[in-house]
This record gives sequence, C-alpha cells and structure tokens, in this order.
Amino acid sequence: MMLADSASRGEPVTPIAGGTDVMVSWHHRAKDKLTLLDLSRVRELAVMEWTGVGDGASLTLGGLTTYWDVMQSREAAAAYPLLAEAARQVGAVQIQTRGTWAGNVGNGSPAADGVPVLMAYDATVTLASVRGRREVRLDEYFTGYRKSVRAADELIVAIRLPPPTWGVQWFHKVGARRAQAITKVGVAMVRRAVVSGQMSVTRGHAIPAPSASRRSAVVGERASGAPDAAGSWRVVANSVAPTVVRCRMLESALDSGRIFTRPDEIESLLAGDISPIDDMRSTAVYRRRVLARLIYHRLAQSA
Ligand SMILES: Cc1cc2nc3c(=O)[nH]c(=O)nc-3n(C[C@H](O)[C@H](O)[C@H](O)COP(=O)(O)OP(=O)(O)OC[C@H]3O[C@@H](n4cnc5c(N)ncnc54)[C@H](O)[C@@H]3O)c2cc1C
Repeated sequence: MMLADSASRGEPVTPIAGGTDVMVSWHHRAKDKLTLLDLSRVRELAVMEWTGVGDGASLTLGGLTTYWDVMQSREAAAAYPLLAEAARQVGAVQIQTRGTWAGNVGNGSPAADGVPVLMAYDATVTLASVRGRREVRLDEYFTGYRKSVRAADELIVAIRLPPPTWGVQWFHKVGARRAQAITKVGVAMVRRAVVSGQMSVTRGHAIPAPSASRRSAVVGERASGAPDAAGSWRVVANSVAPTVVRCRMLESALDSGRIFTRPDEIESLLAGDISPIDDMRSTAVYRRRVLARLIYHRLAQSA
C-alpha cells in the first residue's frame, strides 16, 4: 500500500530485502533522501516451495529466499544444481545468508551472478501490486542498464523455475580471485533434454534426488533425450552487455547442430549477442575472448 501511495505521488520508494546492494550504494545516494520499504519481516516472502510431484515438480523462490536457503536445500541443489553453484560464488557466507535472489534481480546489475543461472533455467518473475499479479519471463525482464519492466509500485514476490529438464548444466565465473570478486565474465549454459520417463545420465556425476516421492530424475552433465521445439540450448552471459544477456545467436547455432572447430568462430557469433565495455575490471577484448573460449572448451568437453 505504501508502495502504491508513494508511486501515485511520484515519490520513489526503495524496497530493501537483504540490503547488501542497497547499503553499498547508500553513500552515493545520500542526496536522494531514500525512502526504504523494509521487506525483511514479510514472512510470506521467505517461503520457498515446490509445486507438483515427481519429474514435473517446479520450484518457486520467495521474494526473500537467500542464496543460503538454496545451498541448504538438498532438493533445490539436486534439481537445479546451477543455483547452488552460483550461490556458492556470491560474496562470502555473510552475503550468502542475507542476499536474496530477488534482490539480485531487483538490483539489475549486468554483473549479477544469480541472474544468469535463473535465466538459463527459464525462470519467471512474479510482480505484485495493488493492481494484481503478473508473471514476466526473466529473459524479458531487463530493458537496459539497471532498467526493467517492474513498475515503481510493484514488488518481486516470487521467482518461478519450471521443472528441471536439463542435460548439460554449467556455470563459470571469472573474477580477479576465486571468491569475493565482481565478475569480469560469467556464463551459464544449459541444454534441455526432454525424455519420456527418467533422464539417464551418460557422463559426469549424478546428484541423487533426496526425496524419491518428489522426483525420480537425476541430473548430470549430459542426459539422453531429444531437444524440443522451443530450442534446447540456453547460453546466458553476465558482465558482457548492459544487462545479463541470453546469447540467442549462439543458442540458435547450437540448436541447429553447428559444430565449432575454433574459439574464434564462437567469438564472431557472439558479436551479435554481446557488447562488452572496458572498465576498471577488464577490457572488452578480454571479455569477448574469454567468454568465447570458455564456451568453446566446455562444448569440446561434452562433445
Ligand atoms: C561484499 C559484497 C559481495 C558481493 N558479492 C556478490 C557476488 O559475488 N555476486 C553478485 O551477484 N552479487 C554480489 N553482491 C551483491 C548482492 O549481495 C546481491 O546482488 C544480492 O543478491 C542482493 O540481494 P539483497 O536482498 O541484499 O538486495 P537489496 O540490497 O535489499 O536490494 C537490491 C535491489 O533490489 C531491490 N529489491 C530487493 N528486493 C526486492 C523485491 N522483493 N521487489 C522489488 N525490488 C526489490 C532493491 O530496491 C534494490 O534496488 C555482493 C555485495 C557485497 C556487499
């Protein structure tokens, strides 16, 4: 209600969840006289829940679900391993226990590490206001650098992940050091594998589902099965464009079965997908080359 009233008067209100991004920008924004809306005690937003059973079960992260919540949930980590993988590389324990997935989306940084894995898994964002709720695909959520389709009076109340039907699943973060570093180049890559019955692991380690009643599938690096019509590859990169970005040209090439024989071929194709900048952390050339090589070598491994 406060959000709606303030928005109607044209006074911006900043929702605050874990505060790990808001507090960092605090001193830059002192002159803005921020009005904060503390969400941290809204218990309904903390709920992380499953819908459905077996292979068809899907996961909904609440607006206050933290990285730590996902890391502690054996079920979530088993079904969506990249969530746990990315969570482990966000800040340190203090940030992981306070920082939320919704805050990572809400902050809109192109360097966000949670967003690429959510986007690779085809997540949707549930926005709520006094007008009701709407669901937006995460890959259609960002409209520019730190800009999104979220209206001033809307809250991110949930992030929904469809049932996991992924074979290849991979996330890599390049930073100045292994932890506590903002990403220079990051990439999440998954390949959909639609199968009748169970997914079968042909390579890599299988992660057993903790609750047999909830799901019988296991996920590993490669699973058998035919791709579906919606395209089977998702390649999502961070720190290489004004927003976290799906590399759709590369995805189409992979979906069409194109084989790459050199990293340069991937780099050329990525030119249509990404637009890196030079900044204090890296150069555009570095970001382009490293992204192409990371992807090339990962594809070569799974060939
Ligand atoms: C030391 C340190 C290390 C960090 N390391 C990393 C890292 O490695 N990788 C990484 O990606 N990030 C990192 N971060 C950034 C930050 O921790 C994450 O982006 C985190 O997910 C933000 O979540 P939060 O709940 O703290 O967001 P907050 O700071 O509470 O909010 C962030 C933004 O989202 C908005 N917002 C929050 N919740 C909602 C909601 N429900 N609806 C609408 N808008 C909302 C806020 O208004 C604000 O604009 C780091 C931060 C620090 C301080």
